[in-house]
Amino acid sequence: MGDGQKILFWTDKWLMGNVLSTVTPTEIPEDILGLTAGELWIDGVGWDLTKIAPYVSANTQLELSAVVVVDRVTGRTDKMAWGETSDGRFTVSSAYRFLSRDLFSRPDMSKLFRSIWRVVAPERVRVFFWLLGNNRIMTNQERFHRHIGDTELCQICKADIESTLHILRDCSAMSGIWERVVPREKHQVFFNMSLLEWLFVNLVDSSMTEFGPWSTLFAVAVKCKEDGEGAVGREERLISWLPPLIGWTKLNTDGASHGNPGLATAGGALRDGEGKWCGGFALNIGRCTAPMAELWGLYYGLCIAWEKGFTRLEVEVDSSLVVVNMCIGRLIVLQMDWQTMHFP
Ligand SMILES: [Zn+2]
Repeated sequence: MGDGQKILFWTDKWLMGNVLSTVTPTEIPEDILGLTAGELWIDGVGWDLTKIAPYVSANTQLELSAVVVVDRVTGRTDKMAWGETSDGRFTVSSAYRFLSRDLFSRPDMSKLFRSIWRVVAPERVRVFFWLLGNNRIMTNQERFHRHIGDTELCQICKADIESTLHILRDCSAMSGIWERVVPREKHQVFFNMSLLEWLFVNLVDSSMTEFGPWSTLFAVAVKCKEDGEGAVGREERLISWLPPLIGWTKLNTDGASHGNPGLATAGGALRDGEGKWCGGFALNIGRCTAPMAELWGLYYGLCIAWEKGFTRLEVEVDSSLVVVNMCIGRLIVLQMDWQTMHFP
């Protein structure tokens, strides 16, 4: 969402991946069905709830309140995104997968197991792959389904369900490593395969790298990841708050959601070089995802710091995902114009 001029509020897929008119409990009257998001937004007020509230659930209202993106300040326009890739860009391979979904038959497992026992790697690595091929890795997803865990979420990134493929490939803790060792032109394919496909294709790839055959590098990297963060458990470290340098202010923010997505809150504190309190906040966001709650926390923290004139600011967040987003400049809510920004 940019300025909301093109997005049709009720009939486009823009909020939490839903078309609103299909999830509303009541029929939407003809005269408002064709309105754009911009037409249902009042500058300085927010969503025009007199036209929206009668038709949407309380949940949807909470989801709406977490979205403040009808942006007429920076002048960004609405953008169309392709729903079959994570970055919204169209690719032929994702379109092919979309069209042929459910048509793929079960892969030939004997080929996969042959490739596992043939890979040049220590025996314990091959045994681990054999377990993988049999889908015997205990994940939070599996624990949850067996009613022995209370969350399906990955506890590292808290952004996605912890499936086997998530742990080994897609988690933010791992994808960065793959992005470095897998050649760029192969990323699209590498990051879009199903688990068994992914194992097979990489285990039979004997092309040489500077560390030996790709299949060996792949197998060892997967096993290292598992050794580091899987069943062994995680290292616990005691950490403490350290004051910033004199003349600087430190901002600590945190956000959390009860469920993902779920009701979300965020809070933060500003302290100076002597540890003295300079300001803070706690707020209800509405309904959104856990990473989004972290981002809202950071956003409000920065707003307050700016209002108070703290220009030398050190920021601490507890989510590596937020840091990653900041670094790669994808943080949409932070692409604001400091000169025109007003904190409500
Ligand atoms: Zn993760």
